Amino acid sequence: MSLVIAIDGPSGSGKSTLAKRLAAHHGLAYLDTGSMYRVATVWCLDTGVDLDDQDAVAEATRAMPLEMVTDPAGPRVLLDGVDVTDRLHTGEISTVVSTVAVNLAVRAEMKARQRAIIDSERTGGRSGGRGIVAEGRDITTVVAPDADVRILLIADPTDRLARRAMERHGAADEKSLEATRDEVIRRDTQDSTVSEFMSAHEGVVTLDNSGMVPDETFAAALAIIEDRVR
Ligand code: C5P
Repeated sequence: MSLVIAIDGPSGSGKSTLAKRLAAHHGLAYLDTGSMYRVATVWCLDTGVDLDDQDAVAEATRAMPLEMVTDPAGPRVLLDGVDVTDRLHTGEISTVVSTVAVNLAVRAEMKARQRAIIDSERTGGRSGGRGIVAEGRDITTVVAPDADVRILLIADPTDRLARRAMERHGAADEKSLEATRDEVIRRDTQDSTVSEFMSAHEGVVTLDNSGMVPDETFAAALAIIEDRVR
């Protein structure tokens, strides 16, 4: 029997860390849907598409030659056969990715591609039919509302900001916090105009990991999964 786990949450809630660890633990594939919006942004910039031209961005996204490598131990993103993973988390992309993500035609294309990956992991794929952990902003609600386990991972804005600042700048002092503020707070505000990831839909379990270390978040998520699939 396959297992599909959907995790949503705002920036800095620890989704990627948790999702990769759960996938490795259960022998599942791992899909970071945020990377798909990031790579669409890279593709548009590389091919000279104006991000404010919604039709052109949608058309470019539909034509994008993308391959997602869903190994939780080494997730990679291939664009036209070239590994662009290391380009996805630069400040340049983080600043503008929401412009691409609020384009509804882009979202429809992403949903179809994400759905295809999830469905293929249910029956085969890299997990051999064991299943997948998919994380993002609309996975529990739009992409995989039928997932076996759905978790909304949230944390206080101060915690999220500090985590991102540590990740990006190796410190959580005032200067690093300020440099990270746009990436966390402004991006969440823009993203939440098209996805609801601040409050849980019916059947979605909220896990608030404010003040928790990754091990505690992992243990809490394992308990939720055990409870749901029993
Ligand atoms: O999770 P990450 O920060 O990499 O996501 C990058 C961006 O992709 C988000 O800010 C959001 O604009 C978009 N996104 C989305 N729906 C998802 C996942 C990500 O709109 N399911």
